[in-house]
Amino acid sequence: MRTLKGPSDSVVVVGAGLGGLSAALRLAGAGRRVTVIEREAEPGGRAGVLRDAGWSFDTGPTVLTMPELIADALACVDEELEDWLDLEPVRPLYRARYADGSVLDVHADTEQMAEEITRVCGAGEAAGYRRYVEFVSELYRLQIRHFIDRNIDSPLSLVSPSLARLVAIGGFRKLTPKVGQYLQDPRTQRVFSFQSMYAGLAPQDALAIYAVIAYMDSVAGVYFPRGGMHAVPRALAGAAEKAGVEFRYGTTVSRVETRGKRAVAVITADGERIPCDALVLNPDLPVAHRDLLGSVPRRVERLSYSPSCALLLAGSTATYPDLVHHNIFFGDAWEGVFDEIIDQGRLMSDPSFLVTRPTASDPSLAPAGKESYYALFPTPNLRAGIDWRGEGPRYRDAMVASMESRGLSGFGDSIEVEHLTTPLDWEERGMEAGAPFAAAHTFLQTGPFRPRNTWGDNVAFAGSGTQPGVGVPMVLLSGRLAAERITGPDRAYRSRAWR
Ligand SMILES: Cc1cc2nc3c(=O)[nH]c(=O)nc-3n(C[C@H](O)[C@H](O)[C@H](O)COP(=O)(O)OP(=O)(O)OC[C@H]3O[C@@H](n4cnc5c(N)ncnc54)[C@H](O)[C@@H]3O)c2cc1C
Repeated sequence: MRTLKGPSDSVVVVGAGLGGLSAALRLAGAGRRVTVIEREAEPGGRAGVLRDAGWSFDTGPTVLTMPELIADALACVDEELEDWLDLEPVRPLYRARYADGSVLDVHADTEQMAEEITRVCGAGEAAGYRRYVEFVSELYRLQIRHFIDRNIDSPLSLVSPSLARLVAIGGFRKLTPKVGQYLQDPRTQRVFSFQSMYAGLAPQDALAIYAVIAYMDSVAGVYFPRGGMHAVPRALAGAAEKAGVEFRYGTTVSRVETRGKRAVAVITADGERIPCDALVLNPDLPVAHRDLLGSVPRRVERLSYSPSCALLLAGSTATYPDLVHHNIFFGDAWEGVFDEIIDQGRLMSDPSFLVTRPTASDPSLAPAGKESYYALFPTPNLRAGIDWRGEGPRYRDAMVASMESRGLSGFGDSIEVEHLTTPLDWEERGMEAGAPFAAAHTFLQTGPFRPRNTWGDNVAFAGSGTQPGVGVPMVLLSGRLAAERITGPDRAYRSRAWR
């Protein structure tokens, strides 16, 4: 593994997103003097929080998977997850509602899920599901250690028995036909393949290796921290601070001062110069190249981006007894949905969307007797050219109308406080192309082909724009991989995720 050159006693980490926090913990654990510089008043970045009139809304991720990676990050500074977070499994993981009125609860426990599939789709489908679980579990075992949780310097270094096995089990075939080998019912096919959307790909275009995301949630389980998702960055930042990491909140870095290919300091918007031996950059990778390092490599310029989303956070007086924590509303259309969003750059005409009700797990996130809703509708990213200044209010009404027509009657009238985030807002928060899910995980933007996590002699990147990719588990890994570019590999480290 290539490590960065020169001294690294004092490291500056720009950004207290989950990637930056994970890097800071690993660096502090390896004895470096670490300063984290964050422009916001709190840690978390995309895993942010918005407080309004007694509601506390998570503004980003809601589906927390692989908590062992949070435990790994904390273990770098000898801290235990249980001392920092109160995590509960979410049961069921999701409730899927289909256009024909049927409802399927998704459980992590294979037997419980097989019973549910037998109830809704029949025993033959449940047998296929059991075989699908074996397939995605093997995919996970093959990928996590050899392809995901490691720094990759060259595609050739991936040639291994695991790669041969991945090819043999069909990991490089397309996801849709692969899922179809196990599952015949369109309802189970959808619920076990929509996750490719997290990676910015339609199931019909994604490679089967991306079924690993279905493993991470639908097999390994989904969790929720008391106090909301924002408790995760708060915990990581708290543990880092306890380990001696200095945090400078409310401080924007406006550029990196370089000498040749070496970063020697960061300059803040107030003109302060903060020297460093080594640097970790956690802002969105293309933005970090352009705004902080001063030039964008050609390969980064040419990246294609994942779809974006419109997010409606609503504090409401209405309770819907049928809504569990995570609810997916599938429309009748399926392949057409991806075609509209990804290929045609249009809004969904027959939407599929996620409604999360965090108050199902933690009522303290809303004033007594009230509810909190988080409605996420996938949309094209800004490259599609939609003018969100005009479209935003119209689309907000369309989102509410869709929710009401799928059974949440009176949703609009029940709202007491609301906040809409559109792709334009994601761009204003520093996400290239208004795409909060970063560069799409097409084959040529994955693994060794994803933008590398180093620059020059002493700069590493952490976050969803670099390797291994998007989502809470991946960015936690990215932080550790960035830190290891500086400290060298931690040979004692054995992630609990693949132990
Ligand atoms: C709506 C939404 C839903 C999602 N749902 C899920 C989900 O359910 N499950 C899941 O696993 N993932 C989900 N994700 C993805 C996941 O949230 C992200 O992949 C992850 O949080 C990104 O972390 P990061 O460290 O890469 O970047 P960020 O969180 O963006 O962190 C970058 C940090 O750098 C700071 N910064 C930027 N520029 C500067 C500067 N110049 N000076 C100082 N500081 C700066 C920013 O303020 C920020 O704190 C979701 C994301 C969104 C937006």
